[in-house]
Amino acid sequence: MSLTCPKCSDQNTQRLSLAFESGISDVTTRTSGAAVGIGRGGIGIGIGSSKNKGTSQTALSQRAAPPKKSSYLKIFKYWFIATLLSQIFLRNTTFREIVAVTILVAAGYAIYRAFMFNRDQWPALHQTWQKSFICLRCSNIFEVD
Ligand SMILES: [Zn+2]
Repeated sequence: MSLTCPKCSDQNTQRLSLAFESGISDVTTRTSGAAVGIGRGGIGIGIGSSKNKGTSQTALSQRAAPPKKSSYLKIFKYWFIATLLSQIFLRNTTFREIVAVTILVAAGYAIYRAFMFNRDQWPALHQTWQKSFICLRCSNIFEVD
């Protein structure tokens, strides 16, 4: 088993799953003074002291994250929202029913696709992830057999 990075030949490598776990930490940060933050919602100015508690994840850990399974809950949420909106805004009863059936069929297909992905592709992706290493010098991700 070689732990040398195939890209830069450095031996400073780490198992991907370990890099993922060690990069997540529960943090409590305290910021004080004046701060100007520009975010998605606009510009915010804060003065004083604030305490933030949460989970922090390093960029390395984010890169080393395991492959995600398709979410049925997400499909259900989209189905629910689309159905709700169409029922509220569509006045024509026949058209409303056609739209509702179309959304249901689309959701059914999405669930089928998610099921197939989780059953056929995800296990292999996860296995590859478990066997992979990350180079801590050039951040190249590579598989070790
Ligand atoms: Zn490397």
